Amino acid sequence: MFSSQILLFFLLGLLLGSFFNVVGLRLPRRQTFTNDRSRCPTCKQTLSWYELIPVLSFLLQSGKCLHCKTRISSMYPIIELITACLFAYSFVRIGIQLELIIALLLISMLMMILVTDLIYMIIPNNLLLFFFPILIILRLIAPLDPWWSAPLGMFIGFSLILMIILISRGGMGAGDMKLFAVLGVALGIDKILLTLFLASVIGSIIGLLLLHLKWIKRKQPLPFGPYILLATLLAYFYGDQMINWYWHLF
Ligand SMILES: [Zn+2]
Repeated sequence: MFSSQILLFFLLGLLLGSFFNVVGLRLPRRQTFTNDRSRCPTCKQTLSWYELIPVLSFLLQSGKCLHCKTRISSMYPIIELITACLFAYSFVRIGIQLELIIALLLISMLMMILVTDLIYMIIPNNLLLFFFPILIILRLIAPLDPWWSAPLGMFIGFSLILMIILISRGGMGAGDMKLFAVLGVALGIDKILLTLFLASVIGSIIGLLLLHLKWIKRKQPLPFGPYILLATLLAYFYGDQMINWYWHLF
């Protein structure tokens, strides 16, 4: 019974993950994603339902378009799989509670940002403007303990990134600043600070590693989205344990 529910959240994540790919790909180009069916970006052939099954179509077609044989980016099935795993994990960790909706919204927003960040290196305003009021309302109904952790998290998240922008002049963008304000509402003051800390640590380690392996050049701009996603989820799901562990060091 329980495992069938986990499977349900996994499948929901697969389906929505495929939708997040489409939104992330089209939103920055101001294309609609409701009345136009998916087409191959190369040969413009309209795709049938069996070419649009998350992950499965990609595997069955060995990652190629059936019509023109152009390679399909492996980013699409990876986004679908990560979303599916995160949806299933959120259900296992949180159970059926209002907090589960907050977790799923948070994951949805971050996955779409991951797509836009990887392809265009931007965080669309429309996306943040969509999730911001919904998360505020949900945090009013399911408040953090203490309740002021959410508004303070929003304020500090915004202000800290603003300071980083002013000091580093171009290290981070206005999109990151607005994103951290939205994340602050969902995570609260302690975990938004932890998110920023983890994102910088993960970003530095991976940046140095890529530099060492000569996969990137010095000063080459890197998408910050993947680190923010990873840091946010670590802080959201394991923040209490990490903060507890830290205090017990002394
Ligand atoms: Zn094609």
